[in-house]
Amino acid sequence: SLFTCRITSREHPASGSQPSCITKVSASLHIGNGFSVFLCLCQPKPQNAVTIAVSSRTLFNMVAERKIFVDEGVEKYVAFQVEHENDPLKPGPAFPFVKALMNVNTRLRNLYPDSEELFDIVLMTNNHAQVGVRLINSINHYGLTIERFCMTGGKSPIGYLKAYMTNLYLSKSADKVTEAIEEGIAAATVFMPKQENDLSDTQLRVAFDGDAVLFSDESEIIVKKHGLDTFFEHEKKFENQPLAQGPLKCFLEALGKLQRKFYAKNERLNCPIRTFLVTARSAASSGARVLKTLRSWGLEIDEALFLAGAPKGPLLQKIRPHIFFDDQMFHIEGANELGTISAHVPYGIGQKYNKGKLIEEPKKEE
Ligand SMILES: [Mg+2]
Repeated sequence: SLFTCRITSREHPASGSQPSCITKVSASLHIGNGFSVFLCLCQPKPQNAVTIAVSSRTLFNMVAERKIFVDEGVEKYVAFQVEHENDPLKPGPAFPFVKALMNVNTRLRNLYPDSEELFDIVLMTNNHAQVGVRLINSINHYGLTIERFCMTGGKSPIGYLKAYMTNLYLSKSADKVTEAIEEGIAAATVFMPKQENDLSDTQLRVAFDGDAVLFSDESEIIVKKHGLDTFFEHEKKFENQPLAQGPLKCFLEALGKLQRKFYAKNERLNCPIRTFLVTARSAASSGARVLKTLRSWGLEIDEALFLAGAPKGPLLQKIRPHIFFDDQMFHIEGANELGTISAHVPYGIGQKYNKGKLIEEPKKEE
């Protein structure tokens, strides 16, 4: 194992028992008064945890290192990383999100010391093992609790994502993200914003687009193929028919599961997770179907913002989410310009269009 942590338990070691969250005890020490210190691996089981897999290039800013890899090849790249292994990497686009997940975990552990229903972060990397040392040093430097490393050695991460029952996968590689979405795993390509906004230290804030993100692209298809008027008519007509689920629905569901743990302890007003729907739909003409769909799923969203086609960037600047998910690149770009960390969900008919115009070949990014 790469990491160990200490957990105190009231259970006496003589009884042979250990806290249920501990999967493997390496050493234990009885310190008197019924207390013991366990040196252990404390990884929650994937079926209980909300597993978030992040790539090394989303957690850390490795733009300069990537340039060495591309321009000078793998040997120079590994040599550079080894030479700089004691220099912590700078935070990348998913770093504030991961930090916020850990703050939620701290709150959950205080309320539910024995529960495994926490965020579990897995670092996915196809880096050389030599580079792993710099990653570990950087993780320790920032005090991040990342106990699972998955070094895929250049292979597709999909098998690992499934094995870990991943609830969300964040990467810089649009190809890997597309592959994950095709396999039914919530995933997005994260972009570093052009400027930095101050983000909450106490509350994880997540913003979602609606169509082709939380919901399927069935209504988006109507907009793209038949225009807005037909779309409004269609949405009115099918107001009571829930939309099919989109690629990020399960992640919203997982956030809801953890939110309810706070509500159960009377912490609704002080909940460290807040979710936002930021949709281009307008409330009056097409908003009802969206809200009724969420209700039919038994899911709550804390704030629903219907922009009626207005740009999303300025509003997101006010919301200050740790991450914003959208399927359309022009919304991602607009949000990014104004300092919102944005993540592209490559799903649905929107991939074939740019600002309402059909594009011949969907652009594939590295
Ligand atoms: Mg959309």
